[in-house]
Amino acid sequence: MTQLIRSWVARANDADTPFPVNNLPYGVFSTAMLEPRCGVAIGDKILDMAAAEAAGLVRMGDKAVFDAPAWNGFMALGPEAWAALRARLITLLSEGAAERAEVEPLLVDQADADLHLPFRVAEYTDFYAGKNHALNVGTMFRGPENALPPNWLHLPIGYNGRASSVVVSGTDVRRPCGQVKPRDAEEPRFQPSARFDLELEMGAIVGTASDGPISVKEADDAIFGYVLLNDWSARDIQAWEYQPLGPFQAKATATTISPWIVTKAALEPFRADAPTREKALLPHLADVGPMLYDIDLAVTLAPEGKPATTIARTNYREIYYSAAQQLAHHTTSGCPMRVGDLLGSGTISGSTKPERGSLLELSWGGKEPITLETGEQRRFLEDGDTLGLTGAAHGDGYTIGFGPCVGTIVPALDDPYAR
Ligand code: CA
Repeated sequence: MTQLIRSWVARANDADTPFPVNNLPYGVFSTAMLEPRCGVAIGDKILDMAAAEAAGLVRMGDKAVFDAPAWNGFMALGPEAWAALRARLITLLSEGAAERAEVEPLLVDQADADLHLPFRVAEYTDFYAGKNHALNVGTMFRGPENALPPNWLHLPIGYNGRASSVVVSGTDVRRPCGQVKPRDAEEPRFQPSARFDLELEMGAIVGTASDGPISVKEADDAIFGYVLLNDWSARDIQAWEYQPLGPFQAKATATTISPWIVTKAALEPFRADAPTREKALLPHLADVGPMLYDIDLAVTLAPEGKPATTIARTNYREIYYSAAQQLAHHTTSGCPMRVGDLLGSGTISGSTKPERGSLLELSWGGKEPITLETGEQRRFLEDGDTLGLTGAAHGDGYTIGFGPCVGTIVPALDDPYAR
C-alpha cells in the first residue's frame, strides 16, 4: 500500500496534504459547538469520531470509546481493534464509499477546530538514543576520545521524565528559572535559564500494557503510533544538577508534542533498518527486522514577528535504538508499562552540521552562533522565539505528515515566588 488511496474528501488527494487516506492520524479536537472528543484528520477536515460512533458508522465492541477527550480507551482495546478501525475508516473515506452521504455531515473544518493532547500521557520516559547527538554532546563535554559513555553501544540510555509536563503544539513555553553555576562563578545562583534549548525527537506511544519483560518484537507490536516531540532543555540548569542521577528540572519545564498520533500502520511502508551496529547487541535487544522509519524531519526558528528559518534537517533513521528496542529495554527490570506511556527517542542529529537537532550542537555549546535568514544570530533560544518541528514520510504521490509541533518562548517570571 505505497500508492495514494484516493478519497472523496476535498483536498485529501492533494500531493502536499499531510493527511491523505493513507495517513488517518488520531487527535482530540473541540469547536465552539463541540466538547473535546476523538477525531481523525482527512485532507483539511476532521471526522468527528464521537458522532460517527453515535451514528453507528464505527463500532468498537459494545462500549462507546470515541466520545472522550483521549484515545486511551480505544488504544486499550488492542491491535486487532486498531486494525479493524483503520480498515473501516479507509472504507468510509475512500473514493466510491457507499456511506459517503452519512459520513460527509460529520466532517469538521480543521480551521474551526482547537486541537488538544491526543491521549492521556500515562508516564513519560526520555532516551538518549541518537548516536550523532551523543557523540556531539560527549565531544563537547568529555572530548572526542571518550565521547560515547562505555554503556552507550550496549543499551539505550534513558531517564524517567514527567508526564505532567507534556503539552500539545501551540502551548507557550515559559523560560524556566533554576539553579545554575557558571564555570567562573564561586557559588551557584538562581536565575532564568540563559541556555534554553530545543531537542528534535520523535515520541512513541505505548498502546498495550505489559507487566514483565517483553521482547523487541512484542514491544514493536505494543507501539500504537508516533508523534513529533520537542524536549525543551535548560542546558545551564542541567550542567549543574545532573550528576549523579541525570537530568531533573532541566527537562521538566515542558515537552511539546504534535497533535496527531500517526499510527504504526500508516508508517508501515516506510520501515527502515537501524544504522550499522558497531558492537553486537545482546540477544534481548538484537534487531529483529526494520523498526525505524524513513521520516524527514526539520526544525524552524522564527524570532518574534519575523519569518522562520529552517535551522536543521535530518531523518528519524539516524536513531540508533528503535522505539521497540527502547521499550524492550524499559521492561527488562520487570517495569510495568501502561497504555499511554510516551517514549522520547532522544535528540535526532545527522552526521553533518546542518543536520543537528539542538542549538547546543548547532552553536557548538554557544561558541559558534548560527545566523538566521533574518540576519539575527542565535546561540540558544531568545524570548519570543517560535520553534517548530516538521515530519514527513514520502510515498508515491502522497505524504504522511504529523501536523505542527510548535512552541513560543515567553519570558521568565520576574519573581517566580511572588504571590
Ligand atoms: Ca531529550
